[in-house]
Amino acid sequence: MTDAAKPPLNVYLCAPRGFCAGVDRAIQIVELALERYGAPVYVRHEIVHNKYVVEGLRRKGAVFVEELDEIPPSDRQPVVFSAHGVPKAVPADAAARSMFYLDATCPLVSKVHREAEIHHRRGRHIILVGHAGHPEVIGTMGQLPEGAVTLVETEADAETVEPRDEANLAWITQTTLSVDDTRAIVAALTRRFPAIVAPHKDDICYATTNRQDAVRVVAPKVDAMLVVGAPNSSNSQRLREVAARAGCERAFLIQRASDIDWDAVGPVANLGLTAGASAPEVLVEEVIDAFAARYAVTVEEVRTADETVSFNLPRELRQPAAE
Ligand code: SF4
Repeated sequence: MTDAAKPPLNVYLCAPRGFCAGVDRAIQIVELALERYGAPVYVRHEIVHNKYVVEGLRRKGAVFVEELDEIPPSDRQPVVFSAHGVPKAVPADAAARSMFYLDATCPLVSKVHREAEIHHRRGRHIILVGHAGHPEVIGTMGQLPEGAVTLVETEADAETVEPRDEANLAWITQTTLSVDDTRAIVAALTRRFPAIVAPHKDDICYATTNRQDAVRVVAPKVDAMLVVGAPNSSNSQRLREVAARAGCERAFLIQRASDIDWDAVGPVANLGLTAGASAPEVLVEEVIDAFAARYAVTVEEVRTADETVSFNLPRELRQPAAE
């Protein structure tokens, strides 16, 4: 079809979108480890929640495992821990097995781990706002002995949770939550337990907040919104929800262009497009190309924040390689 014969489509591209500094660093750690130590480099759990990224690293020689005992005991190749963080027992287990490990935990997740430890040392029971079963939640709860942290997932949980000692409480959160939902949950906790100690600075990270803010601005002016991201990616799921709540009912999470359900998306004149923090830009471009095959597309970027955050690599990868 020539462009003249295609219906016009405005694509509003949310910015910031896609890779955050923590994801960027985690991928770089695996790539640099492969360069420096050769294949295989073991990676415990998906390094970030994105199939495309995982497959790309697998092709370069990364071997993904769920647990350390899947790694042959005689193998001295490095093992990388994912950006989501791991329970304390995991590095301890790696050390006991004399494994060489590199920790790709996002520094903003590590910050929450440290907060949890400080609260625990000060005798506070911790309420963690997050999603059960998410690797970050498993990692954060695993920083402290069993029973030290209680998970609260919803406002209803916050209304009914019964901590041991109401006077000695603190709350922390997963980094990739919905800003709005968390506000409501924390309001319920604070109303019920006025002495509860809050984080110094929000635990929801800058990347999650910025991506949600951009979606909130774009969603009211589009007929449909697509979020490029994985179904097990918390921050991507939240972006879809934020779009729906901000007035765009046709909001979909897709892994890549081949997932677009054209019937569900329906006819569109204005489309919003964003990507979760673990989705590479190439998949966003693929979606634009798919629309360009059916529509005469004009792309406009809607930027609500500039991001300049970057994190240092682990020391082992900053030092020059031994000759
Ligand atoms: S989403 Fe936030 S916490 Fe998670 S890896 Fe990215 S910067 Fe770190």
